[in-house]
Parts: sequence; structure tokens; C-alpha cells
Amino acid sequence: MVDPAECTIKVMCRFRPLNKSEVERGDKYIPKFTGEDQVSISGKPFMFDRVFGSNTTQEQMYKASAQKIVKDVLDGYNGTIFAFGQTSSGKTHTMEGSLHDPDGMGIIPRIVQDIFNYIYSMDENLEFHIKDLLDVTKNNLSVHEDKNRVPYVKGCTERFVCSPDEVMDTIDEGKSNRHVAVTNMNEHSSRSHSIFQINVKQENTATEQKLSGKLYLVDLAGSEKVGKTGAEGAVLEEAKNINKSLSALGNVISALAEGSTYVPYRDSKMTRILQDSLGGNCRTTMVICASPSAYNEAETKSTLMFGQRAK
Ligand code: ADP
Ligand code: MG
Repeated sequence: MVDPAECTIKVMCRFRPLNKSEVERGDKYIPKFTGEDQVSISGKPFMFDRVFGSNTTQEQMYKASAQKIVKDVLDGYNGTIFAFGQTSSGKTHTMEGSLHDPDGMGIIPRIVQDIFNYIYSMDENLEFHIKDLLDVTKNNLSVHEDKNRVPYVKGCTERFVCSPDEVMDTIDEGKSNRHVAVTNMNEHSSRSHSIFQINVKQENTATEQKLSGKLYLVDLAGSEKVGKTGAEGAVLEEAKNINKSLSALGNVISALAEGSTYVPYRDSKMTRILQDSLGGNCRTTMVICASPSAYNEAETKSTLMFGQRAK
């Protein structure tokens, strides 16, 4: 069993490198890394469980932020990994990266590899069912609770998979469906949270012992303020909803971090879905993604403040 004292929320922070247009514009590189767990922006220090500079490789990121959670999920715990940050700060790079390139692979493909390596290494008495719970084409799915009051998304697509490649293909399919859904809507209306769930069910056919763990991998919608993009109408409404769900998530995480008896899970659809994988007997890691450019200083500070709330 895992020590309950280990059941904490970990917050990591990763800065991407300056991108081409930031370099061309001559933007200053503002983060100062003052230790493994601390970064300063214009003299203001921010503490995290770990801080990663712009040269951090995908492998280092995976080892530090996700590998332990995967092990716990295989031991029957539930876990969640989030990426939070403004648009273009590196959330998708961190969560997915390039699905088919060994160096460029982000957290999700590495998790898939590790889970299958584990399965391949197990003894023959164990039977595994790994389900990929994926839904990108259906609208308006609702959150229900089963008879044990565990929330689930009703009608969501689940898929049995037998190899890492099948999982990557499923992610690719989900991504292209997601692009279609976006272009059918308002063109600017592309902000959404993406949740990918992996269920690992193990059964020892000799002892009939069963173990199941699930892992939510969440690439959140960009956290930037609306003012900068000058949104109006439907786009503004969407931005308000996104900000509402991000602040609901922030409230849940800080309530958990403070050990409050009341955790406001019911305030958003997303926190309801994630309810039994956040807090309690769970493993949660949030990766705060940030731009190093002086141009984004205000946004970066508010991103780091959000991460700090969970500490
Ligand atoms: P987000 O999902 O937060 O909107 P992306 O992950 O799409 O941002 O990143 C924006 C761009 O920056 C992409 O082209 C991505 O490849 C690049 N990028 C992000 N983080 C890094 C990093 N740590 N190293 C190199 N390139 C990165
Ligand atoms: Mg993205």
C-alpha cells in the first residue's frame, strides 16, 4: 500500500524556449531559475515541487512528472495529470508532443508505452483489459453517477486496445475529429479542454484478484485573459465559460491542498468528471506551462499564481 502522506498534489512548472517570432522581435528572456524548485519573474519568486527550464527534454519531463503516477495507476490508484497555461505556452507539447517520434513524444505516448511494457512483462496468470475512453464527436454528453456514486460520462466512446500503436492511432483519430468539430463552429472558437482517459483493469486468473486504476490526462484550454484577444459575442461567452471552469478547477485544487472538508467538485462539469481521480486516494500532478518572453510577463505571472494556489 502507498503511504497516505504521499497522496498530495504535485505542481511542476515548465518554461518553453523563446519561439521564432519572439526571438525576431528581440524579446527578453525573463525567468531566472534560482533552484530546482524556484523561479523568479522580475524579482518575484515562485515555488513549485519542480521547475523546468527551456532545455528540459520530453524524457526528463516525463520521468519527473508522470512516471510515478503511472506506477501507482498500475497498483490500482487513480490519477490525473493536467497541463495549464496560456495558449502557445507548451501544454500540448508537454501532454502529447509528437506521438510517433521517440525523442519528441510527450507524456501521453510515454505513458502508453510504459503501461504496455508493464503488461508485456507480466506473468501469464494476469489478463489485462485496457480501455481507451475517447469521445470527440458527440455533443452534450452528461455526467452521471453509478450506483457507487462514482461519476462517469454517459455514452462516451470506449475502445479496447492491444498495443501502443492502437492507442496512438486512436489519439490521432480523436485529434482529427476534434479539428473537424472546431472548424464547423465559429472559426475563432477553438478553445476547449481535452480529456483523455486510460482505464487499466487487471485480473489474476489464478487468484481472481482484481485491480483497476484510471488515469485522466488533461490538456486544458488556454488560460489567457480575454482582453488581449478582444473577443466579443459567442467567443466572449465561450471565454467566460472556460475561465469559469478553470477557476472551478483552481478552487477544487486549492481546497484539496488545504485539506478542506468541503471541496466544490460540483461547480463545473470538468471537476465532476474528475472527482474520483482528484484528491482522496489519488495522484494528481499539474504541469504549469509558461512562456519565457517579456512580452507575456503579465500572463506568465498570473499562470504561476494559479499554480501556487495548489501549494
Ligand atoms: P499550447 O498547447 O499551450 O497552446 P503548444 O504545446 O501547441 O502550446 O506549443 C506552442 C508551440 O511551441 C508549438 O509549436 C510547440 O512545438 C512549441 N513548444 C512548446 N513547448 C516547447 C518546448 N518545451 N520546447 C520546444 N518547443 C516547444
Ligand atoms: Mg494546445
